[in-house]
Amino acid sequence: MAIVGAILGDIAGSQYEFQRPKNLNWKKCELFTDNCYFTDDTVMTLAAKLAVKNNIPFADSYRKLGRQYPNAGYGGMFDSWLRWDDEKPYNSFGNGSAMRCSYIGEYFNTEKEVIEWATKSADCTHNHHEGIKGAVVTSMCIYMARTGASKAEIFNYTKIQYPMDFYKYSVEYELDEYRDTYRWDVTCQGSVPVAIRCFLDSEDYESFLRNVYSLPCDMDTLCAIGGGIAEEFYHGTGFDEEWLLKNYLDGDLYRIVRL
Ligand SMILES: [Mg+2]
Repeated sequence: MAIVGAILGDIAGSQYEFQRPKNLNWKKCELFTDNCYFTDDTVMTLAAKLAVKNNIPFADSYRKLGRQYPNAGYGGMFDSWLRWDDEKPYNSFGNGSAMRCSYIGEYFNTEKEVIEWATKSADCTHNHHEGIKGAVVTSMCIYMARTGASKAEIFNYTKIQYPMDFYKYSVEYELDEYRDTYRWDVTCQGSVPVAIRCFLDSEDYESFLRNVYSLPCDMDTLCAIGGGIAEEFYHGTGFDEEWLLKNYLDGDLYRIVRL
């Protein structure tokens, strides 16, 4: 289940979202600690799932669940959009559209549907073309991983979406280069290709998380974006998912995961 990969990624990344020690021993450090918690990435991932399952507009579902968890760590623009029923999409290309769409790649069975629904999931807030692209590419990579695509195929797809001639952070750069050059970035185009590169250079779900840990980044969100892809590709996270979900989520959120 991609959403489990995204949610555990959010939780693992949360402890270093704002303060990543410069000398972090990312190969060996603990991934799930007492400093971890679920953030907006988890709440919105589950809100997107409810929108699809209950066939209600994404905007309504984001607002309903978001208001139940008003302090989950939303960005400023999204926070005010959440508060008022009549707020319009605000042309965002923040990585929020990419971190919440994992259920779409997990649920739909054709590329056409994945693209359509990912677009819808982004549109009510992140209607900038890069905001929509972030959701579409993340959902498509999850769908590809789930349906047996190889890493080379996922790489080629992402390369076409984020070619190095036009994007500062293309999937084409090696992770080693990113360790020197990458700077904290909360845009879709500064997050999605990098999260996918962390997945491509991993051997399992855990090493994917550690690759993200190796970068100074919006860590919960990069772990959530690539976490859905890694979970589908490796057929699970290798962690005691049931225990982690029950330990870090409350009863309401846990029930939505298991719906
Ligand atoms: Mg977050």
